[in-house]
Amino acid sequence: MREARLLLIDADIKITPSLRTAIAIHQFRRQQRRRAPRTGLRRVITAEENSSTSSSSEVSIAHELERGDAAVQEVPVLPFRIGHGFDLHRLEPGLPLIIGGVNIPHDRGCEAHSDGDVLLHCIVDAILGALGLPDIGMLFPDNDPKWRGAASCVFVREAVRRMKEMGYTLGNLDATIILQRPKLSPHKPAILANLCDLLEADQSVINIKAKTHEKVDSLGENRSIAAHTVVLLMRK
Ligand SMILES: [Zn+2]
Repeated sequence: MREARLLLIDADIKITPSLRTAIAIHQFRRQQRRRAPRTGLRRVITAEENSSTSSSSEVSIAHELERGDAAVQEVPVLPFRIGHGFDLHRLEPGLPLIIGGVNIPHDRGCEAHSDGDVLLHCIVDAILGALGLPDIGMLFPDNDPKWRGAASCVFVREAVRRMKEMGYTLGNLDATIILQRPKLSPHKPAILANLCDLLEADQSVINIKAKTHEKVDSLGENRSIAAHTVVLLMRK
């Protein structure tokens, strides 16, 4: 049906720049879907050479292309997908501080339903976000007793499982942890090794940075901890 519609409109149209763009986008999407035939598009573009009039509306043609896309209802398979994750937890005395799966000696730790690992939480959200999936709170609700005190590596392994299931592998990951105290540099090698294991990735594609918050706001007053992560996923 889709091919037939495209063949019908190739009689007397003039290819304008905007129509060419619509066709290019359409063509790119089809290539992404790895669908072999492009006969209809070729016929439309060929019409440019034979056409001297413009009796068809480029808008309607673009809509025709779009309707064709909607009717097929296929999700484009992108060669790369990026995702961003952010997390923040309050710090309270008497709780463990766990960052990247590593227990960090400190006078306080994260208030959370799970183990409160701010770095792993935002890594999970970055991966899920890149895949277009619901976030960590949707997949592992904090009102579910099953996740009370859970080690956050469970969440990362599930995100990685979904990533592989959808045909992607980690390209690289860049994370920034924001905390006033303690200094994270002595713990970075252990955190990095843990992330390599959890993400099944080489150290060369994982980067972790730590910053203070210049004693400003809750982060700078040692009352909270936050982290940002950006990931690039690559199609396998
Ligand atoms: Zn969290």
